[in-house]
Amino acid sequence: MSTHTRSSSSLSTSVKTHTGKDLTLPTGLFINNEFVPSLSGKTFATVDPSTGEPIAEVAEADKEDVDRAVDAAEEALKGWQMLPAATRGKLLWTLSDLIDKHTDSLAALESLDNGKPLRDAIDDVRGVADVFRYYAGWADKIGGQVLDYDPALHAYTRVEPVGVVGQIIPWNYPLPMLAWKVAPALACGNTVVLKTSEKTPLSALKLCSLLPLASIPPGVVNILSGGASTGSHIALHPRIRKIAFTGSTAVGRKIMKMAADSNLKKVTLELGGKSPNIVFDDADLDGAVAACFGGVYDNVGQNCCAGSRIFVQSGVYEEFTRRFVEKLSQTVVGPPTDPTTTHGPVIDSLQLSSITSFISLGQTHGATLAYGGTRLGTRGYFIQPTLFTNVTPEMQIYTQEIFGPVACLVRFETEEEVLGMANGTEYGLAAAVHTTDLDRATRMARGVQAGVVWVNCYNLTPPQMPFGGYKQSGIGRELGEAAIREYTREFCVSHIPLAARRYFFKTDFMGFDGLIETKSVIMRMRV
Ligand code: NAD
Repeated sequence: MSTHTRSSSSLSTSVKTHTGKDLTLPTGLFINNEFVPSLSGKTFATVDPSTGEPIAEVAEADKEDVDRAVDAAEEALKGWQMLPAATRGKLLWTLSDLIDKHTDSLAALESLDNGKPLRDAIDDVRGVADVFRYYAGWADKIGGQVLDYDPALHAYTRVEPVGVVGQIIPWNYPLPMLAWKVAPALACGNTVVLKTSEKTPLSALKLCSLLPLASIPPGVVNILSGGASTGSHIALHPRIRKIAFTGSTAVGRKIMKMAADSNLKKVTLELGGKSPNIVFDDADLDGAVAACFGGVYDNVGQNCCAGSRIFVQSGVYEEFTRRFVEKLSQTVVGPPTDPTTTHGPVIDSLQLSSITSFISLGQTHGATLAYGGTRLGTRGYFIQPTLFTNVTPEMQIYTQEIFGPVACLVRFETEEEVLGMANGTEYGLAAAVHTTDLDRATRMARGVQAGVVWVNCYNLTPPQMPFGGYKQSGIGRELGEAAIREYTREFCVSHIPLAARRYFFKTDFMGFDGLIETKSVIMRMRV
């Protein structure tokens, strides 16, 4: 258990990680590059999913704390925007180096708080450094265009940051979700108020302590711990100009309403999924089994992209099932630090009971439980990876996001049939196709309705590739150049040189249409 110390200007706690190391961890709200208590003095406990015991108490942000964070972000905005873009890039690069240097402690905290095996947490942290490095490179490459559509006119667009942005992240990949949001926002010159999930606040607090070391100025990044109420104050805040949310579709819908009702802030939503993983008769079967297996069970299925509907063509269905079950029998569910563990616990008792309810529903509705289905032990939240066969499209285990290690195996005959089944959902986050036929791969990639399609692989999210959903899986994109557009707005400048003034008076160029989300500035200047 942790010890808990508190002073008027800072909060910190000492936590013992699973590797036996004692880490001193700040637990306050991170505002203006300082850890401060919440104004109300409220705190909440974060729990170790492998034991069910509290790890630490962290400060909980209320409305007044969100206001303080927005004040700090607003105050910092001008200075941050006025820095040469290359300097912003350099600071992000320094931060990525510091993240690399502190991989062990960041990963240890992530593993402790989230329950994922330590080596997975280390992979996550390496990916986080890569994301910051990628956007460090973008900082001085963001710009507008010269529009040469009329020789009498000097017209161009400028790209500018949106302002103070609000960001809300989930608990399944706490540090990667933070990096996907904070890195592009900063590269574009915005300042940030981010809320972590109440289930996994710890790793972000550690990362906050690196920001001053990277010389990120005070107020540029403000990170608050808290739950739904803190999140709603961010989504409703009248001085926040954009909200980026990752979480469930149900909460995403609320965020969009709050954004509309407050100040019509710009919205990006990364939401849930029920992704199809499609295996054709001609696939490399071992490769397909491995990709489908990782696709649904990585992170104990607590993955927005989880390929939880596995469609297998009838010619290889029996053999695929045999190899898949054999692989399941080799899984080791256990504590995150045991190097033999392949799967850690799920996040909490709520998630565990939701998953076990879905498993019971699957059995009640007549699906065959081919593997797993059982909670392991009574301490912590461990459950066997689970496989259902004989699943039909009406069953809830087939239609709803379970967000746990539960896969449905479905047999199909033709390409047309499987495309209909794959697309027969309101979700559209990710999909995969396993085939050695290139024509079929490109045909399916085009036909499947998903923001990300993997061919003969799964779960690859390099920082260079845009990521996001179709349909109710989301709006907007993260990663890649696409994220730059989400964190900027563009305005047009149309300038008539003096020599062309007569032309100006003759031409109705107020009819000039701006681009999407543009502001037109018509300048008449003495040059
Ligand atoms: P969640 O929607 O319950 O919570 C997400 C975040 O929103 C948390 O920080 C939470 O405190 C906050 N929140 C909850 N209610 C709120 C409200 N009314 N107003 C403002 N904020 C509120 O989701 P979760 O359980 O943390 O994460 C699981 C979900 O996230 C799954 O549906 C999963 O598919 C989705 N997810 C999507 C992606 C993606 O990139 N598409 C990535 C990871 C997770």
